[in-house]
Amino acid sequence: MWGQDWMSISELLMPFPEKPKQTFAKKMRAQNYTVEKMYRVAEDFFVSLNFSSLPESFWKLSMLKKPADGRRVMCQPSAWDFCDTQDFRIKMCTEVSFKDLLIVTHEVGHIQYYMEYSGQPFVFRQGAKPAFHEAVGDTMVLSLLTPEHLERLGLVDPKDLLDNDEQKSLNFLMEIALKKLPLVAFSYVMYKWRHDVMSKTYSSEQLNCRWWELREKFEGVKAPSKRSEEDFDPGSKWHVVADLPFLRTAELIKVNIFRYQFSKILEFQFHKALCEAAGKYPTIPLHKCSIYGNAEAGEKFRTLLKAGYSEAWEDTLEDMTGVADMDVRPLLEYFKPLHDYLVAENARTGETVGWTKGETRC
Ligand SMILES: [Zn+2]
Repeated sequence: MWGQDWMSISELLMPFPEKPKQTFAKKMRAQNYTVEKMYRVAEDFFVSLNFSSLPESFWKLSMLKKPADGRRVMCQPSAWDFCDTQDFRIKMCTEVSFKDLLIVTHEVGHIQYYMEYSGQPFVFRQGAKPAFHEAVGDTMVLSLLTPEHLERLGLVDPKDLLDNDEQKSLNFLMEIALKKLPLVAFSYVMYKWRHDVMSKTYSSEQLNCRWWELREKFEGVKAPSKRSEEDFDPGSKWHVVADLPFLRTAELIKVNIFRYQFSKILEFQFHKALCEAAGKYPTIPLHKCSIYGNAEAGEKFRTLLKAGYSEAWEDTLEDMTGVADMDVRPLLEYFKPLHDYLVAENARTGETVGWTKGETRC
């Protein structure tokens, strides 16, 4: 609906569609995966890096499944810090699926961050900046999505290992790109629209059409049918109607506005630094590097998490990665094999890169 993830059209875009697709669902069923097991898998990843296991109260008090008694709940996955240094919970209507396994890992990442900085004074119990919070679990997801780790989970057959076959590996990278990269454009649109609404750049008669203008310009998507000011499409996004408070000062805007966009860049910075700490990168390319079970990488990551909000985010980031700013290079390194392939393939087929705006359907 928002074009924030393009996995649903991945079949149209696979570099090598004749190669059989990895289907994890069947393997998960064969192994009797349950909702609890999915949380245990995420927990185990962190524990392998010397993080703490999830407290008993987490298992007792969280809402990990849609309640069976039919009561109405909000299913949007979220992780909660009850600020007493012990009580941490997740609320999610988890289903047994590979997609949800990745979301579970993301949410458990929030909980691990809460637990690590719980030793800080209350005011410092926050992410170094909001994007850091979003990037913790997704950094683990990058290790989880490697042939090595998927084999460990029994989700790919050893004989079917992706790195035996470059074409399958490119298909897999394309899927990850379709999952992660469109969010950078979508979150920019969402926050730019919010910012422009609050700064009164638009009149109240232009809210929906301005939304579509931004979506076409930055995401390259069009509305599936004619829209008008009778519609209010931005309101379909939970974050617009329910989540972030109105921002008052320029500083707050700077910190919050790019929460999701920056987190996508950060997770690759984290992943690269951790693969280096684990002594794996550059011997193993980033998209095949898993830090599972590596104490050095764990130590490095925990130091960042423990600091919470107690230092300038630039310092926290520099301690871990050696770079004191957002840096898109690790993301580009991660996707380099796919990028090289696309450059060559587009040159071969004479494909036009990019899009023109055309007529707005609003
Ligand atoms: Zn999150």
